[in-house]
Amino acid sequence: MNLNENAIKVLEKRYLAKDENGKLLENPEGMFKRVARAVASADKESVSAEELKDIEQEFYDMMANLDFLPNSPTLMNAGRPLGQLSACFVLPIEDTMEGIFETIKNAALIHKSGGGTGFSFSRLRPKGASVNSTGGVASGPVSFMKVFNAATEAVKQGGTRRGANMGILRVDHPDIMDFITCKKNNADITNFNISVGITEEFMNAVEKNEDYNLVEPNTGNIVGKHNAKEMFDLIVDMAWNNGEPGIIFLDRLNRDNVTPEIGQIESTNPCGEQPLLPYEACNLGSINLSNMLKDIGGKTEVDFDKLRNTVRKAVHFLDNVIDVNKYPLPEIDEMTRGTRKIGLGVMGWADMLCKLNIPYNSQISIDLAEKIMYFIQDESKKASIELAERKGVFPYYDKSIYKDLGVKVRNATTTTIAPTGTLSIIAGVSSGIEPLFAISYIRNVMDNDELIEVNPVFKQIANTEGFYSDELMRRIAKRGTIKGFGEIPENIQNVFVTSHDISPDWHVRMQAAFQKYTDNAVSKTVNLKNEATHKDVSDAFWLAYKTNCKGVTIYRDGSRDLQVLNIGKVK
Ligand code: UDP
Repeated sequence: MNLNENAIKVLEKRYLAKDENGKLLENPEGMFKRVARAVASADKESVSAEELKDIEQEFYDMMANLDFLPNSPTLMNAGRPLGQLSACFVLPIEDTMEGIFETIKNAALIHKSGGGTGFSFSRLRPKGASVNSTGGVASGPVSFMKVFNAATEAVKQGGTRRGANMGILRVDHPDIMDFITCKKNNADITNFNISVGITEEFMNAVEKNEDYNLVEPNTGNIVGKHNAKEMFDLIVDMAWNNGEPGIIFLDRLNRDNVTPEIGQIESTNPCGEQPLLPYEACNLGSINLSNMLKDIGGKTEVDFDKLRNTVRKAVHFLDNVIDVNKYPLPEIDEMTRGTRKIGLGVMGWADMLCKLNIPYNSQISIDLAEKIMYFIQDESKKASIELAERKGVFPYYDKSIYKDLGVKVRNATTTTIAPTGTLSIIAGVSSGIEPLFAISYIRNVMDNDELIEVNPVFKQIANTEGFYSDELMRRIAKRGTIKGFGEIPENIQNVFVTSHDISPDWHVRMQAAFQKYTDNAVSKTVNLKNEATHKDVSDAFWLAYKTNCKGVTIYRDGSRDLQVLNIGKVK
């Protein structure tokens, strides 16, 4: 199997089964076999023993060849007692003490199993509102977020991985200013990503420089007004300061809600790529685009036949996961089996572009992004329709928009672009749809180990072209870009662009290109240089809004003390 050193390290640390003394009970091959067997077993009743073996082999090959990987909880837990296979959950928070603490308990159960949770705090009454039963006053969403944060902190010691949370507050909630500034200090509320839930009404008011209403959620009363432009600028200022909050466009999430009769979407999972109904979970999986290429007469091209094949198998895999999954709560079981959402996405996009000799920041790459994602979306729907013919439509089909369209699908959604934080390390490729972070860089891995890494595609080309040296790689790591290195041919300098060579608008345009053909949302960080201005942040927000993105997260280099990836810090 083609796993690099880092991949093996990560797998041994967290993914491979161990006994109570920490001794490994399986190797990576064994892990993929365990996962393939468990996931294929969903077909046990409907196919012959021989066909079941073939399905298992297909699933195994797809993972072992690193063509497709399911999200981490599936790799960790499939075929093992915990059996919780989804990365993404959304839980409701009711405006009662019982409701709030019930959700904290439920979030703890989900974190323990490796899932991440998103919540909207928008239903909670604002700070200072009265509490009937006690005659006291409410402490408000931000103070309860701190309780959720503390609970996550305690649970993360015992879980398979760090519990991650998304906290969302609507922009028209009276406590919105407290929320926007709640992570101003990097040390606060560290187990949450936060996003402001933006409405169309709000964006219109910003454009016209008008006031907008603040509404008390528990009464529906308008309790104040605020200038929309000032509020927008406060969000920009905080995001410039340290990357938080992000923004999500709530009305767009609901415009694309395929089961509006069942409920409104008020939150996404922690990294923003998966909008879900309350109590809904979703399992994700990503196709490694770097492997979807073929050589024709010395020319590298996208292998659409292989991609089609991989999409079909991946949809089958992810749909099976829904059946073999052990859900942490009965409400989640009911909801998740009801809509049967899956989220197929991609990783290794930047590596694919490098192999095709296409710069990330070019119109050709935007066009190719649309072409590839259109293809994946289309094939995933065909696969879901075929599954529906064999196994039936999703149970809430009659409450979905698909019944009006007359399209019989097995899954309410099929596509999502995940960050692939760990999956991309396992596959040894660039993460999600992000550009290369650097050509060579220092990675702080678990236990604070530091490693110098060289992008494998670059390494190979540098070797073939004869300009590779360790010394050069260290110099590149210090600089964070290969722009201006005389020993590197110019066309290679143009193709191997890093996150920081790319202006923010290309980041946003790439996100928009993938979003165009993705059911759910796209995980993307718009990386800005340290010198970026408030206007740069504001421009990125506006461009995302105008190009139909579902949200934006920006990050200005060096604006947080602790970063996972560092450039220019070689000792
Ligand atoms: N996630 C989480 N904890 C983590 C990393 C991820 O709960 O430490 C969840 C979260 O919902 C996130 C999703 O997993 O949005 C997908 O993240 P990613 O693609 O990075 O996960 P991977 O499958 O690569 O581990």
